[in-house]
Amino acid sequence: MTRHFSIAALLAQAARGQKGWAPQWRTPAPKAEYDALIVGGGGHGLACAYYLARRYGLTNIAVIEKGLVGSGNVGRNTTIIRSNYLLPGNIPFYETSLKLWEGLEQDINYNAMISQRGVLNLFHSDGQRDAAVRRGNAMLLHGIDAQLLSREEVRARAPFLDFDTARFPIMGGLLQQRGGTVRHDAVAWGYARAADKLGVDILQHCELTGLRIENGAVIGAETSRGFIRARKIGLSVAGNSSRVAAMAGLRLPIESHVLTAFVSEGIKPLIDCVITFGAGHFYISQSDKGGLVFGASVDGYNSYAQRGNLPCMEETCEEAMALMPSIGRLRMLRSWGGVMDMTMDGSPIIDRTPVDGLYLNGGWCIGGFKATPAAGLCLAHLMAKDEPHPVATAYRLDRFATGQLLDETGGGTNMALH
Ligand SMILES: Cc1cc2nc3c(=O)[nH]c(=O)nc-3n(C[C@H](O)[C@H](O)[C@H](O)COP(=O)(O)OP(=O)(O)OC[C@H]3O[C@@H](n4cnc5c(N)ncnc54)[C@H](O)[C@@H]3O)c2cc1C
Repeated sequence: MTRHFSIAALLAQAARGQKGWAPQWRTPAPKAEYDALIVGGGGHGLACAYYLARRYGLTNIAVIEKGLVGSGNVGRNTTIIRSNYLLPGNIPFYETSLKLWEGLEQDINYNAMISQRGVLNLFHSDGQRDAAVRRGNAMLLHGIDAQLLSREEVRARAPFLDFDTARFPIMGGLLQQRGGTVRHDAVAWGYARAADKLGVDILQHCELTGLRIENGAVIGAETSRGFIRARKIGLSVAGNSSRVAAMAGLRLPIESHVLTAFVSEGIKPLIDCVITFGAGHFYISQSDKGGLVFGASVDGYNSYAQRGNLPCMEETCEEAMALMPSIGRLRMLRSWGGVMDMTMDGSPIIDRTPVDGLYLNGGWCIGGFKATPAAGLCLAHLMAKDEPHPVATAYRLDRFATGQLLDETGGGTNMALH
């Protein structure tokens, strides 16, 4: 049975009718005890397990996942990766992530269809252009690629946008060419397979139902498949963060909201990069199968329902029509939703909790897919060394108490620019 992917293996399997591939990972029974346990088999949890084993030498570990690997947000997002951030607390983290993406396929021997096709953020007013210039300069000062495009340069790249009669005229854009897309579910499968190869147990259909805590320290996890002893437990459950943290008596500065996305029927190649609309919150790209992938803002209501809804789709379509009316007659193929872990400042948390041995990775809002490699690495570092990774020192849980917020969206301190 073949497990390693190579040209020779592909040719040999083609000759054998693809019958000799081994399962991508084992299906072990839970052990009574592990050195560390990661809750959540999404991209972040699996990446954490991989880096814990690969970089920090911890192999007696397991990932517990209540459903199937990849059935959460890691398999539901719009696949965009980028590192076009403004604030010093964020820039090194997201650039570390992008660099990890750039070497990921070789690292884990898995084709994740990483495509650095560019991410283009459009601006539609003088104030937005000033903000884009500022962001681009911050990126360049950190050695990250950024290009300010004029209206005509945007038109040359994306002639299908409405430049002549638009309600919100396009004035230009900020392009990060190294940004792009990655096949999301392949990321989950690739990390799961690579972690399993290093000895990590991936336990699917194993739900965390309680946390056992003694003298202020965690000693194990109650699960749907019995009690598992572990003195280090990392919570990486995205939209379920508040529910799971409540098992340890913790109340998080996180709300759960649904984010809807949808995809159109396949059409010929039209959009060669990711485009974001600056006059609202809407982003679009084209999948390798030809479908246009639409994403926008979260629903305003709190919810744990893992499905999208029509009002959100309608709003997204309105924004799409304002930007590129030419797609008005496209047919929608399917829509879906994911539960987002929204923090109050839009930035994540990778930190210890007040319970010894219990670590939290959450609050990723609508942008945690691009963070997958770095979030996994930084959670692994935190769990292995009990101190934050140097690129994740700003993601503290207590910032909501101390007031040292990381307000990247610019909604707070940059209002004057808009
Ligand atoms: C529609 C949509 C579009 C998005 N677009 C983008 C984008 O373009 N770019 C970007 O960067 N980000 C995007 N995101 C956000 C991104 O997908 C998430 O921030 C990121 O995937 C969260 O990390 P994760 O992969 O580990 O989460 P998940 O895949 O959700 O993993 C968490 C796992 O925990 C499991 N779990 C929960 N509770 C328990 C329990 N009690 N016991 C055991 N397991 C449990 C869940 O089943 C789940 O599998 C988008 C999200 C959505 C929904």
